[in-house]
Amino acid sequence: MATKIEHHLDLGNFAYGSCDQVTPMVRRVICKNPSPFTYKGTGTYLIGEGQVAIVDPGPPLESHLDNIFDALQPGETITHAFITHTHSDHSPLTASLKDRVGSISYGFGPHGAVKEEDPNDRVDFSGYISQEEQNQYRKEYEDLPDELKREGADTDFVPDVFLRDGDIVEGNSWSIRAIHTPGHTSNHLCYELIEENSLFSGDHVMGWATSVVGPPDGSMLDYLTSLKKLVPMGHDLYWPTHGPSIPNPSEYVKSFISHREEREEQIVEYLKAGPSRIADFVPQMYEGYDKRLWYPAAGSVHAHLLHLVETGRVKVVDEEGLTKLTAIYDLC
Ligand SMILES: [Zn+2]
Repeated sequence: MATKIEHHLDLGNFAYGSCDQVTPMVRRVICKNPSPFTYKGTGTYLIGEGQVAIVDPGPPLESHLDNIFDALQPGETITHAFITHTHSDHSPLTASLKDRVGSISYGFGPHGAVKEEDPNDRVDFSGYISQEEQNQYRKEYEDLPDELKREGADTDFVPDVFLRDGDIVEGNSWSIRAIHTPGHTSNHLCYELIEENSLFSGDHVMGWATSVVGPPDGSMLDYLTSLKKLVPMGHDLYWPTHGPSIPNPSEYVKSFISHREEREEQIVEYLKAGPSRIADFVPQMYEGYDKRLWYPAAGSVHAHLLHLVETGRVKVVDEEGLTKLTAIYDLC
């Protein structure tokens, strides 16, 4: 989920639930959970033949699992499930998959720190979003079926096998290498398909937008480090969980790094006019975007501010407020 970056948004002629053979070794089934946060929906990838591995089973929609099984040829089964991270549009369906066929799940580990609900610590956009609009957004959200409510933490998921950076898992026709890429979440893994020199990039690098980095589990410093880590790896193609494949990925990732650096410079520029809160930065930085994206964007702006504090460029006026969304920031 994310903020908008102009890029190749063409997913081609796909139909929800049907299977596309996208490379000799990779099939894709797209789940019907489109939203301003998931683009067209969760893309679940099937790797290899016979004993098949899948990447990111998806949200808890049994119909999506039915479609995944329909994508198999007679005699094929799913033996491995690789989870990029524990968000509700990626990991929850793993449990049903295991119930049906006993597949083994792989991931970095359970979800990290979850921000405690604090009714007094909210970003207040009431100066920028009318009460009417706010009510409409709330209603749209409440009308969604529970399983499609926007990307929340899946705190139930625990992988059968905990992977660490560089670990390789081999199947009968494929080899997958785990690459730890914290930032969007602390437990985010990308998966390299060694035979095709491609990378399943999850929500770390998406084909339609930049990732949301929400503290406390998300970290801008980690995110930037994880982007820089991918650049020299020289993959030919990325397969993100949302959006189309990414050719020439090193250049694309470099553009994400500069995008973040520009965002930080933007914040520093705004602060020259005087101390400010997240609720004032976001409407300026995301002017012209769908206002529903302002709420997750506030998380990313918070992550930027924490990063600017870490690097000594910005300070919090009230020291106790450092972790709070309502804190006031100023230049050092
Ligand atoms: Zn995510």
